[in-house]
Amino acid sequence: MKIILKPQHEHIVKRRHPWIFSGAIARSEGEPGFGETVDILSAKNEWLARGAWSPHSQIRLRVWSFNPDDAINAGFLKAKLDRSISCRREILASGAASACRLVNAEADGLPGLIVDRYNEFLVCQFLAAGVVYWQESIIQLLHELLPDIAGIYERSDAEVRAREGLESKCGLLWGSAPPETLEIQEGPLRFLVDVSNGHKTGFYLDQRENRAALAEFCKGKQVLNCFSYTGGFGLWALYGGAAQVTNIDSSAPALELLRRNVQLNGFAAERTTLREADVFTYLRTCRDSRQEFDVIILDPPKFAQSERQMDKAARAYKDINLLALKLLRPGGILFTFSCSGHIGRDLFQKIIAGATLDSGRDVHIIRQLGQAGDHPIALNFPEGEYLKGLVCRVW
Ligand code: SAH
Repeated sequence: MKIILKPQHEHIVKRRHPWIFSGAIARSEGEPGFGETVDILSAKNEWLARGAWSPHSQIRLRVWSFNPDDAINAGFLKAKLDRSISCRREILASGAASACRLVNAEADGLPGLIVDRYNEFLVCQFLAAGVVYWQESIIQLLHELLPDIAGIYERSDAEVRAREGLESKCGLLWGSAPPETLEIQEGPLRFLVDVSNGHKTGFYLDQRENRAALAEFCKGKQVLNCFSYTGGFGLWALYGGAAQVTNIDSSAPALELLRRNVQLNGFAAERTTLREADVFTYLRTCRDSRQEFDVIILDPPKFAQSERQMDKAARAYKDINLLALKLLRPGGILFTFSCSGHIGRDLFQKIIAGATLDSGRDVHIIRQLGQAGDHPIALNFPEGEYLKGLVCRVW
């Protein structure tokens, strides 16, 4: 089956970008089925790539390979999976963590496939037609390549599935089911993870390196951990010697796991405060009651889900950052993040600069952060960079 692009639309494919939008397609020869492999040709009939057909998505094609010699079959998928898995071995072997991302979709040449490892369990997301088409082979290959795993669980309940015309789907795919809560290790800490009901695949693995970076700023400090989830940053603050950590989240189940995580690691319950609250409201209450903190973490959910929501999202980022800046004691530290792919690094820094100006404080960026190394960014796919963070000293 062949897909022929409109004139002048081959450039992006020649630059090895893995997405082809519906507007770039002139016609097809044959009628490809959902997720089937097609050859992609320029208007001048030049072979460009081989990709998977997504009939319902605006991203109509996702490229598997730019090499005409590559047949797309189990052998091809095996080589991609093997490369992906082998470059994460060090993280797991070094003792840095017992959980990490093994396959990061487009960045690993497997568009739409996420595979996260939590101890002996894999949690997968099949988010595009191509990987759904090859799902059975992928599951088979994963337990062949990783003979020590006990089970593979599916968490394909991300919203992007709807754009592919797919329903959300969760459940056991192979082997035995993971327990209700798994206990993973991250550096010196242990965390309980609910892979069936937790956010994403259960834990925010992308923040692993940034959580560890927090510890050094916390000795004897009063810390405010906003959007705490199950306590990732909060636990690292306690490990770093924080006197008191206040954790805010709107999710009661997340805070319950946080409470258990504090206990699991043997930290005194008195050093932590848990508040089920809206961060926007909570920060205003702190401001009105003139509370102060030495360290504040802002790790909000994705405020910009699409390009259209960018202005609103920018205002929300500015709002929480302005409030946080006002609550910090002189010399205090702000760890601030955005995981909205639509808000680039430059724009994020401009938003923080705007908040700084309004706050009347002097702010220095002392470190720039991003997603952990097991969430790589392929240079032919810059869209894969979504997490940005700034560590700021506030005077
Ligand atoms: N820092 C965490 C991940 C944070 S994810 C970690 O390292 O594990 C974002 C969290 O924000 C989620 O737990 C979600 O429940 C919470 N959340 C979303 N909107 C919120 C709001 N308006 N107020 C408080 N919490 C919110």
